[in-house]
Amino acid sequence: MHDGRKTLTRYTIEQEHRHPHATGKFSGLLNAIATAVKVIANQVNKGALVGSLGQGEGENVHGEVQKKLDVLSNETVLRECEWGGHLAAMASEEMESFYPVPERLSRGKYLLLFDPLDGSGNIELNLAVGSIFSILRSPSPGAEPRLEDFLQPGTEQVCAGFALYGPATMLVLTTGHGVDGFTLDRDIGAFILTHPQLRVPEETQEFAINSSNERFWETPVKRYVTECLEGKAGPRGKDFNTRWIASLVAETFRILTRGGVFLYPKDTRDTTQQGRLRLMYEANPIAFIIEQAGGGASTGRERVMDVRPESLHQRVPLIFGSKDEVERIASYHAEYAQGKDLELSQPLFKPRSLFRTQ
Ligand code: MN
Ligand code: MN
Repeated sequence: MHDGRKTLTRYTIEQEHRHPHATGKFSGLLNAIATAVKVIANQVNKGALVGSLGQGEGENVHGEVQKKLDVLSNETVLRECEWGGHLAAMASEEMESFYPVPERLSRGKYLLLFDPLDGSGNIELNLAVGSIFSILRSPSPGAEPRLEDFLQPGTEQVCAGFALYGPATMLVLTTGHGVDGFTLDRDIGAFILTHPQLRVPEETQEFAINSSNERFWETPVKRYVTECLEGKAGPRGKDFNTRWIASLVAETFRILTRGGVFLYPKDTRDTTQQGRLRLMYEANPIAFIIEQAGGGASTGRERVMDVRPESLHQRVPLIFGSKDEVERIASYHAEYAQGKDLELSQPLFKPRSLFRTQ
């Protein structure tokens, strides 16, 4: 490009040139994903004009009513990514079981997991939505894909990314060498590298949590939020702002840009589920990106990417953002588990005098 702008195509090919044994398959896969993202962005931008608002037929496997755009976006990713010879199989939040690449097409060595439309409740409000993806190596390339092939911890991801369909369409991704952000230039139909090597700022004054769930929070989360809300006069010695966009991808991009912490913690409502967000389609890819940008991601009890998945649609608590904050919240969980913490409900609990000196 004459002005030195770097397209996603050039970026992925240059990345592959750094690895002497690369086959070109990986840049092909990333470009197929980018094409799917452009198609979804186009559908999202048209909104009600293409009649894709409102409710589709039926519920997805999580019992949520599927919006038509969820279904369309799922189909888009399957169709754009199945034919290139990169993938053995795909799994998505919108499909009960995984999707083996049809035998008539050539199968590759990677597995793709994705949330085709994250935050789809925001669609009819014309607020930001996105797509999230995670790429694993198939443990048995060439063999018939099996469910167990997908059940790898997040540390095994070779690539993760998300698209944000906001005022501009962005693609943010990591292949394990930092995090790079691209903006869709609609005039030329290409993603341009606009945010190289994103880093989560270490200093933060913002936290994001759905406070309507406060009565269901566990003590360590109540403690953290209480301390933030006490502001300058409290144990943290500074004022905090709250943010809640109810869109995981938008929250993630905000944290990558401005720092802060996001919490969707374990709560006491549904004891059959550990958390709310999906490990394979949401928590793991976001955790990989955030860690690669110098931040942290935890369930409160362990590093997200260390969780050993038991099922495709498993849910986990998710706390991520500026590293110091995530470590602090994890330490509150550890202290609570060891009984070192005092119950917030005890009238003598004085967080200021207890924790100010630390
Ligand atoms: Mn989602
Ligand atoms: Mn979704």
